[in-house]
Amino acid sequence: MVFSIERRKQDIKALKEETLDVLIIGGGITGAGTALQASASGLKTGLVEMQDFAEGTSSRSTKLVHGGLRYLKNFDVEVVADTVQERAVVQGIAPHIPKADPMILPIYDEPGSTFSMFSLKVAMDLYDQLANVTGTKYANYTLTKEEVLKRVPQLKSDGLLGAGVYLDYRNNDARLVIENIKRAAADGGHMVSRMKVVGILHDENNKASGATVEDLLTGETFDIKARVVLNSTGPWSDTIRQMDDKLDAVPQMRPTKGVHLVVDREKLHVPQPTYFDTGKNDGRMVFVIPREEKTYFGTTDTDYTGDFAHPTVTQEDVDYLLEVVNNRYPSADIKLDDIESSWAGLRPLISSNGGSDYNGGNSKPIKDESFDKVISTIEQFQKGEVDRYTVEDVLKNIETGNSESEDNPSAVSRGSALDIDEDGLITVAGGKLTDYRKMAIGAMKAVIEVLKNDFNVTYELIDSANYPVSGGEINPQEVDEETDKLAQLGVEKGLSESEATYLAHLYGSNAPKVFALIEEVEQIEGLTLADTVSLRYAMDEEMALAPADFLIRRTNHMLFMRDTLDGIIEPVIAEMARYYGWTDEAKAAHTVKLNTAIAESDLKKLKGDGNR
Ligand code: FAD
Repeated sequence: MVFSIERRKQDIKALKEETLDVLIIGGGITGAGTALQASASGLKTGLVEMQDFAEGTSSRSTKLVHGGLRYLKNFDVEVVADTVQERAVVQGIAPHIPKADPMILPIYDEPGSTFSMFSLKVAMDLYDQLANVTGTKYANYTLTKEEVLKRVPQLKSDGLLGAGVYLDYRNNDARLVIENIKRAAADGGHMVSRMKVVGILHDENNKASGATVEDLLTGETFDIKARVVLNSTGPWSDTIRQMDDKLDAVPQMRPTKGVHLVVDREKLHVPQPTYFDTGKNDGRMVFVIPREEKTYFGTTDTDYTGDFAHPTVTQEDVDYLLEVVNNRYPSADIKLDDIESSWAGLRPLISSNGGSDYNGGNSKPIKDESFDKVISTIEQFQKGEVDRYTVEDVLKNIETGNSESEDNPSAVSRGSALDIDEDGLITVAGGKLTDYRKMAIGAMKAVIEVLKNDFNVTYELIDSANYPVSGGEINPQEVDEETDKLAQLGVEKGLSESEATYLAHLYGSNAPKVFALIEEVEQIEGLTLADTVSLRYAMDEEMALAPADFLIRRTNHMLFMRDTLDGIIEPVIAEMARYYGWTDEAKAAHTVKLNTAIAESDLKKLKGDGNR
C-alpha cells in the first residue's frame, strides 16, 4: 500500500500488535537512513516522528552536500577524503537530489582570512585529488580580481584578490529524508509521523524494550514493543535519554542555532553558490546560494537553549548576516524588509567529541614553519608519489597555533557519536546530513549485534551504497539525460517544459507516477496543473498531513517561491481539507498554524507588522 493516511492507520495497528526488531525514534535524516537500511535488511522496523518527517534539523540545513573545502584550511585530509567519497555514494543512491554546483570562493586581503590565493589553490588541488575530479570538467580553477568582478559585479572590489572555483553539490535536505522514508515504507517498515515518544519501556531485566507513544493526530497513547530501541532524535537526543527512567543520563549535546535568510535574486544576484569569510575576523564563513528565483545566505552559529521544536530568527541573527553580506555586496544594501523568508535550525553537536572531530573545528591553523613540509608532501601526493596516509602522517606531526577557544561554538565538534546505554538504549547523534548513510551503518551494526547476542536472530546488513532511495532509480552517470527524458513524459501530458523539468528533478524516477495523475485529477482552481498533481502525490504517496508539510518539506514553496505563495495557500488548504475530510474547526486550526509559520518565516514580528 502506498504511503498515505490509510497506510498510517495500518502501520499504527501493526505497531500496537507486533514486537519490532527495532523501534527508531526520530524521522530526520539519521532515523530515515537507518530505517531504510533496517527495512531493506528484513528487520521488523518501526519509526516514530513527533512532527512531520524532516521537520527538525533535517529541513533546516544550508542544503548543500559539501565536500568541506574549508576543512582543508587545517589540512584535515581524512575528513575531506571521507566526505567527498561519501558524497559520491549519496549521489549514486539518490541521483535526483544532490546536484553538482561549483562553488566560488572569493579571497580578500584582510585580517583573519581563511585562505590566501596560494593556500586556496593548494587546498583546491588536494580537494580535487580527493574528490577524484582532477582533469575533469569539474576541476578547480582560479579567477583574477577582474574575472571575479565580471562574473559577480555586486561583489566588493576593495581588497579583493581573486577567487577559486571548485566542485560542490546542492542538496534538498527534506526530500532526501522523505525519499529514505518512502523506501523504508515500501520495504515494509512502519513509518509514522506525528507520533511522539513520551516514555521508554523496559522488560523484567531493565532492558529498553519499546516506548510509550502519543498519536498527536488522535491523542491516543499506546505502547510499542521492540527488541532494540534506537534514539536518533538529533538535538533532542538528551531529552529521550533523560526520559528513560533507568538511566542517569548526562547531557552530551550542545546544540547551536544556524539561521538562513532569503531575498529576491533581483536584490542580490549571485551566479553560483558563493562562500567567503565573514570579514569580521571571527573564524567563520558564510554561504550565499542561488535557488529558484531567490538567493539565500547563512549561517549563524550561536549556542541555543530555547524550545528545540521552535528555533526562531532573532534581530541579532538578522543584524549579523546583513552586516556580513552587505559588506561583501555593498550595492545590494539588503534591509530587513527585503528578507522574504527565513529558517532557523539546530546543529546536533556533541559537546565533547575531540577524537572523531568532523570538520576540523578543534584543529588549529598550521604554523608557518610547517607549511613548506605540508606543501611538498601534498605535491608528492598529487604526483601519486605518496599516498593519502603519508599526507595524514605529516599533518599529524605538524606544529599548530592556537586560535579557536573552546567557548566558541564554531569550535565544537561536528563529529557523530554512537552510544549504548546500560539499559540497551542506542543513541546515534551528531554528524552532518552528508554522513547520514555511514551513521546509519554504525547504528545498524550495533542493532544487528544486539539482536544476535540477546535474541539469537541473525540479519545481514544490505549494501546501502548500492541501494537507491525512492525516486533514485536513475543512472547516476546520466542524470541530466535521464531527467530530460522523464521531463518529456510530463510535457507529453500537457505540462510546460519548465514545470515538467522541475517535477522530474523533484521526484526522479517517481516522476512518471506524478505525471500519471494529470489524467486522474482535475486541475484545482488557483493552482497550476504541476502544483495540483504535486499536492495530490504528496497526500497519496508522501504522507503530507498538513499544509506546511507540502509547502515547506515536500516542495520548497514557502522558502523559495514566496511571490506565488499567498495565492496558493487557500486552494492548498481547501484541497487538503476536502481530501482528508477536515471539519471546519480542523481546517481553521490548520490555517492558523500555517499562517503563524509563514509570519515567522517572513520575520513579521521583527518587521513590526506582527499583528497584521
Ligand atoms: P533531526 O533532523 O533533528 O531529526 C530528529 C527528529 O527527532 C526530529 O524530526 C524530531 O522531531 C524528532 N523527535 C524528537 N523528539 C522526539 C520524540 N519524543 N518522539 C518522536 N520524535 C522525536 N549538513 C550537511 O551535510 N550539509 C549542510 O549544508 C548542512 N548545513 C547545516 C546548516 C544548519 C544551520 C544546521 C542546523 C545543520 C546543518 N547541517 C548540514 C547538519 C544537518 O542538517 C544535521 O546533521 C542533520 O539534519 C541531523 O539530522 P538528525 O536526523 O540527526 O536530526
